[in-house]
Amino acid sequence: MIEDLQITILADNAIFNRDLLAEHGLAILVEAGGRRILFDTGQGRVLTANAAALGCALETLDAIVLSHGHYDHTGGIAQVLQLGGKPRIFAHPAALGPKFAKRGQPPHRDIGMPDASREALGSAGDRLVTTESVTEVAPGVWCTGEIPRTHAAESGFFLDPACRELDPLIDDQALFVETCDGIVVITGCAHAGLVDTLDRVAQITGQDRIFAVAGGFHLMLSERDAWEAAGNALGRREVQWIAPVHCTGFGAQAYLHARFHSRAIEAGAGRRLEFRKGAHRPAN
Ligand SMILES: [Zn+2]
Ligand SMILES: [Zn+2]
Repeated sequence: MIEDLQITILADNAIFNRDLLAEHGLAILVEAGGRRILFDTGQGRVLTANAAALGCALETLDAIVLSHGHYDHTGGIAQVLQLGGKPRIFAHPAALGPKFAKRGQPPHRDIGMPDASREALGSAGDRLVTTESVTEVAPGVWCTGEIPRTHAAESGFFLDPACRELDPLIDDQALFVETCDGIVVITGCAHAGLVDTLDRVAQITGQDRIFAVAGGFHLMLSERDAWEAAGNALGRREVQWIAPVHCTGFGAQAYLHARFHSRAIEAGAGRRLEFRKGAHRPAN
């Protein structure tokens, strides 16, 4: 059980503090019980600069966890590994596969992991751990592995350059931490859907309640019914802290803030969330 958890957003679509840079992407540093885990690496344009500005050393990571294979989560892998650390790297094998987004006209857009990241993972040898199913990353810190889909619609992304074969995004996973105050869930894009993601964490942990959820909820292209479904899942699980960032989208962020008031936290690169036994607060 983790008594001391700190989450720092290192890369996001928005910035929360001065001297930081924004990009469409996500990277979150998770410090739990003395272990340091980087969850996603953004596109790689801002990660190392923001980490330096925030005083977060990336050369002493214990682990890197990839939520899925899209470029905006995997672009910084090579840079981080070049810093010289020897973190273990947790990813679903499908994260390394081809991924495309459809444009109105071909050529469609390659949104998979950049070659440099793929090569860096190839050089990691047995430090690369595949996560088809739930996997312990550090004591009290887990990634979900594949998330069964019962609610989510089709991803809207593809596996082939012609955009004919839908990408089921089975690589999509979340990270969760078992703290004294409850489960803290960190999502990448939540392509599996926030409802199914939280259901999977509850199923794994045997706990219906979830204490906090931070990350991308992928509601930026969705309508109100999807925002409500996500809000219902957060409400049903009595989530006390909600930090929707990255691909959550303005409409869904506004909806969640209107529904959950001060339990919904404005975040962005530089935002730090601290969880200590019995005392938890967003900090900067
Ligand atoms: Zn994605
Ligand atoms: Zn994303």
